[in-house]
Amino acid sequence: MNRLTVAELLLQELGITEPEEIDLDAIAWHVGATIKRRKLDGCEARIVGTGKKAIITVNTASALVRQQFSIGHEIGHWYHHRGRSLICRSEEIGKHCNGGAVLERQADAFAADLLLPNYILQPRLPQFKKLTFDVIKQVAKDFTTSIPATAIRLIEKGDWPSILICHGQTGRKWFARNTSVPDSWFPKDELHPESYAIGILYGNDTDQASPRKMKAHIWFNRRDASNYELQEQSIRTMDGDVLSLLLFK
Ligand SMILES: [Zn+2]
Repeated sequence: MNRLTVAELLLQELGITEPEEIDLDAIAWHVGATIKRRKLDGCEARIVGTGKKAIITVNTASALVRQQFSIGHEIGHWYHHRGRSLICRSEEIGKHCNGGAVLERQADAFAADLLLPNYILQPRLPQFKKLTFDVIKQVAKDFTTSIPATAIRLIEKGDWPSILICHGQTGRKWFARNTSVPDSWFPKDELHPESYAIGILYGNDTDQASPRKMKAHIWFNRRDASNYELQEQSIRTMDGDVLSLLLFK
């Protein structure tokens, strides 16, 4: 069993054992923060705090799952960066960018641990023989989390040899890998014409209902990639990007 993170310890302190018990207003209150929901211009969420009390405001113009993640992110700021007032733009919350500001990454990691705690998630995983977007959507529904945040969590915490890659109009935005996949499998920057993802991103292709066989060189530069096969399942995100789940044998 992995050691619990600070967000998970907070959940355990409150006796939380099921995803539907993760009540962010109650959790925030427990740590001295009040959550306000209203329309915000130019930012996704913010926190203003004194020594012991803070007010977190979240933008109601955003989708519910994004609001949830933003609240988790601000509680993370309250935990890690108390004493600062922070305004967080949507580009700074949950974008999974490799790089980016340290404070924002810490707050994102806290949010992921708070909304998808490993000690609640892990016991549910053995029922899923294979990782697909159907599985990811089911878990996202159970935990009220976004598809990308849930997918990253399942890739990183599950036992499936897999990589998740996000492409936008300007190329690859980020990727996440399971620890069983060696670093030598590094995804290409641009989508290959033979990938399913390209028709979803630039054409009118619909989401792939299930993973389909694919030569690995379509996705990776590795010299011997053409000797390998993988499975691809790609879907469009609510931001208009494409998420590709690549499953190795
Ligand atoms: Zn932030």
